[in-house]
This record gives sequence, C-alpha cells and structure tokens, in this order.
Amino acid sequence: MPGMELFGAEERKEVMDVLETGALFRYNHEELRQGNWKARELEEEVEIFTGANYAHAVSSGSTAVAAALAAAGVGHGDEVIVPPFTYIAPIEAVLLAGGLPVFAEIDENLCLSAEGIEKAVTKNTKAVLLVHMVGAAADMDAIMPVIEKHKLILVEDGGQALGAFYKGKSVGLFGKTGAFSFDFFKITTAAEGGMFITNDEKAYKLADSFSDHGHNHVGLNRGMEKHPIIGFNYRISELHAAIGLVQMRRINTIRENNRKNKAYMKEKLSQIPELSFRTMPDPDGDSGTFLNFFLPTTAIAKKVVKEFGIHNIAGCNYWYTNMYHFVNQWDHIMNLKSAAPLAIHQLDAPQDYKKMELPKSQDVIGRLISLGIRATWTEEEMDKQANEMMNVIKRVLKKSLA
Ligand SMILES: *Cc1c(COP(=O)(O)O)cnc(C)c1O
Repeated sequence: MPGMELFGAEERKEVMDVLETGALFRYNHEELRQGNWKARELEEEVEIFTGANYAHAVSSGSTAVAAALAAAGVGHGDEVIVPPFTYIAPIEAVLLAGGLPVFAEIDENLCLSAEGIEKAVTKNTKAVLLVHMVGAAADMDAIMPVIEKHKLILVEDGGQALGAFYKGKSVGLFGKTGAFSFDFFKITTAAEGGMFITNDEKAYKLADSFSDHGHNHVGLNRGMEKHPIIGFNYRISELHAAIGLVQMRRINTIRENNRKNKAYMKEKLSQIPELSFRTMPDPDGDSGTFLNFFLPTTAIAKKVVKEFGIHNIAGCNYWYTNMYHFVNQWDHIMNLKSAAPLAIHQLDAPQDYKKMELPKSQDVIGRLISLGIRATWTEEEMDKQANEMMNVIKRVLKKSLA
C-alpha cells in the first residue's frame, strides 16, 4: 500500500499550486491557471508509464470502470463475464450500466482463467470484464485466443494492477478499454481518483465525453460545447489530480521497492514446503504489491488467519471472509437488492446467483492469504514480519497435519 505510505512535501507543493491559483476545476479557467493543468499532466504521466495512446482521469476507479464499459459499447442487456474474486466495484458497474453479470471461475493465477471464460460463454455473451487482481496480470496468452475466438469485447479492470505488465505490455491495453484506481489503498493514490486508458481514439473520445455530461471538449466556451452523447459527472478535481501526479512520478521507485521487498519475503516463506504461491506467467511484470500464498486447505488457512489475529500479526488479507472481495459475502448482489429497479430485474438473469457453484474459485480463495508488501520496509521489519508469520504457520501446519 505504498501510495499512502509515501506521502509528503511534494504532494503538498502540487496541491498548493492549485490552491494558490484557485483553478480547482479541470477544464477552462485559463485566466486563473498560471499554467497549471494537473489532470492533464496526470494523464500524460499515465500515458508515459503504461504506453497507452490515451489516458483520461476520472473521479474514482469505479467511475473509470463505468467509463471503460460505456466506451467499449457494453450496456443494457449485455451479458458480461466477471470474476467472483474482485473488488465489488466492477460487478456494480456492470449492473448499474444495465448489464447482466455472469460469474466464471478463476484459478491459482487469481484472475479469470481462459478455461473459466470458455465455459461461461453463451450465444448472448457480449464482453469479458477481466480484473487483474492483487498486483499482477491475468494469463493473457491463454485468455486472448478465447476472446478472439468468440469475438468478445475485452474490458480490463486494473484497479489493483497499475504497475503490472504482461510481457512488456501494461494491463489495460489488451482489450478495448481499461481502468485504474487511485483510491487510498492503491499503489499510487490521489485520495480519490481513477484513470481510463485505451489505444483506441474513438473509445477515448467516448470516455472523455461520457465522464463529463457528454461534453465534446471542443472550443473555449464550456457553455457552448456540444454533447454528442449522454454522460454524467465522473470528473476528477485539480486537487486530487495534483496528488496523483506526484504519486505517478514515484511509481517506478515504489514498484522497484515493492518487488525487492516481495522477493525478500517470498524467499523467507518459501522455506515452508507446504506453502505454494500464486501462479504468474510473467513474474517480471509483477507490480509487487502483494505476496499471495496458499495453505494446503481452507481449514488450515482459516486457522492461520485466526492465529495471526490472536498474536496481533498485521499485514495479511484473507479475502475468503472479507466483505468486499469474494462472492460468498455478497448477499445484496446475489439477491439483486437495489434502491431502484435495474435492467436485470426486468430481464432474465443469465445465472441463478443464489445457486451458483464455483468450486475452483472457492478452493483457491479459501486457501489464499495475501500479504500486503510495504515499499518502506527495512530488512529488520521484514525479518520480524516473516518470522512471526512463519512461526504461526509452522505451528498450525504441525498440528493440522499431525
Ligand atoms: C479499488 C478497485 C476499484 C475501485 O476503485 P475506487 O477508486 O475505490 O472506486 C475497482 N476495481 C478494483 C479491482 C479495485 O481494486
């Protein structure tokens, strides 16, 4: 979680630039700006870092996913294949766009698997919303042929994977459109913020308009701009963009530190032969934000997590029982509870969400523990963290496997 760890004087300076001019809005107000265009600069930093032809900053990762779906042409009545292990935002984005989520299996790579997608495809499937989870990319060499074979639209949620690459290409650029988050818990933060990326000029223009009430952003007088499409307010403010900008300038350093510290911790934990690790087709592309490891069974993982709690060992996530990341806890989604009617209430749901069976995903997430890597760890802190964790794991394993 380095974004919030590394936060200081430079962020304050960029925010002060904005406050001193009073140009808090990302568009227009040239007379106030004194050359400050923080949202635009943030977009340029993301274009350079990811290699995307186009980046468009928005108010959150969630609104970036909404823009990515809209710009890819995914909406009312469209079946969209989604993973059961994800932050909940992409599922909400599909439902609120009028789409129909179809849950498919993940595997030890922690993302939708090619096999899982293939099995979930029906004649009504329009798109796959691929979520690159906990810091690294899905298995793109396996997935892309399935997307192409069935002529599906690929939309990528890289909310947890800015800084993750697959064989040199940034996540978010394999499909039609992609999204990143700059919320407080991500590799780089803007307090709140998100980023849409694409290599497709038409999709970029649609996202740009969609996230600002349909404005075409042509001309100097905002009040006289045309509105080619219906949109909404998903704009980022200059204050948030100013913070995100500094954080993006640091991302290479953060990523390097993450990867170094992760390698150190992985070597330690590898001393326990019963542990295995997330499969990663391209380890060089890892952003290094999490060390993901598997216990032999869900029961053992649960015991380890309980013991971590008893001994106040912080830093690990157990997504299986976490309220936001795994399907088992999403009663409101499974029962399609909403404030107002959604398209899915009026159409046939493509899956019986209450009876859905995803045995592979249940097994993988049941056994998974994710250690959040800190970019600022000292070797001493890492030794302490690793030793405390390993003592617990070894003790639980000894008892359980006895
Ligand atoms: C964090 C996250 C989001 C949402 O981002 P916000 O900025 O919090 O709205 C979307 N998708 C994934 C995978 C995330 O981890």
